[in-house]
Amino acid sequence: MKNILLIYTGGTIGMVKDDKTGALRPFDMQKIYEVLPILRKLNCNIDTFQFNPIIDSSDMNAEVWLKLASYIKQNYSNYDGFVILHGTDTMSYTASALSFLIENLSKPIIITGSQLPLGMIRTDGRDNIISSIEIAANNEVEIPEVCIFFDNKLFRGNRTTKINAEYFEAFYSGNLPSLAKVGINISYKQHIILPKTSLSLKVYDKLCNNVVIAKIHPAISKEYFEAIGKIENLQGMILETYGSGNAPTNKDFLYSLEKIINKGVKVLNVTQCKAGKVEMGHYEAGYTLKELGVISGKDMTTEAALTKMMFVLGNFSNQQEQKLLLETSLRGEISM
Ligand code: ASP
Repeated sequence: MKNILLIYTGGTIGMVKDDKTGALRPFDMQKIYEVLPILRKLNCNIDTFQFNPIIDSSDMNAEVWLKLASYIKQNYSNYDGFVILHGTDTMSYTASALSFLIENLSKPIIITGSQLPLGMIRTDGRDNIISSIEIAANNEVEIPEVCIFFDNKLFRGNRTTKINAEYFEAFYSGNLPSLAKVGINISYKQHIILPKTSLSLKVYDKLCNNVVIAKIHPAISKEYFEAIGKIENLQGMILETYGSGNAPTNKDFLYSLEKIINKGVKVLNVTQCKAGKVEMGHYEAGYTLKELGVISGKDMTTEAALTKMMFVLGNFSNQQEQKLLLETSLRGEISM
């Protein structure tokens, strides 16, 4: 029998109806079998751990990610897989951050949540938890990745973005197909899943918070970038550009960006599009960015780019190495 550790961080999924008042309140993880007795039928042992306090995922930050990564490290040898219950709002950021913090992963870490609380009749949380645990405990396919399971699909976590605040199909992975689909059977796409490594686990314990995301838009002003340039200790910037990595070509904009880069800030270019990639040589508007020293984020999501920047700047100090790491796929976050 496989051993699974189920970690409850907070979010909509954990809300159940109070028997007396009828109001929704966070559930007690110790009572998971009372809420979902069907879990006893899964062929695995499930231990639980609940965050104290549990948090809405809007309150996720670097400190919590480091605690989560270190908690998994402490418990790594005792379990065959980990399932994390998490709010959907920042789930893609958490999945991306954990993927970078945990190197040489050889077991599944599956993050899931729900659009409707577990205590509601039509909840999607029930199926999401059951399938996540079933996948984490499966004997068929090894999944040495940080994944998100949602709406019957298993995704590489650092490829996802939350795209829907209404329907159950909340996550999208525009540049990589899902790793598995749940129907009558669970069909795994083994050729997409990362290969297992025999190298020993390495969990990093630093993330740099001195980073910003700047989204290019038609009303962007030079004052905007000047203000960013004045942020104390700024070390990294994710530049969300148009299409295949394009930004305005006007001199004011380029000059203020150049000033930021000359201060030593690493600027990583990702596209605002939900699929496709940055190719800075394609148009004049992108080529100029390349000339200035902007680094291509290729087909990384904004969530992956931000957390990767935090990881790289936090753990590596050599400028050349930082650039190389940002450009290279470390955990399958960039297509080869
Ligand atoms: N605000 C909630 C959270 O992200 C929404 C959810 O769980 O879906 O924690």
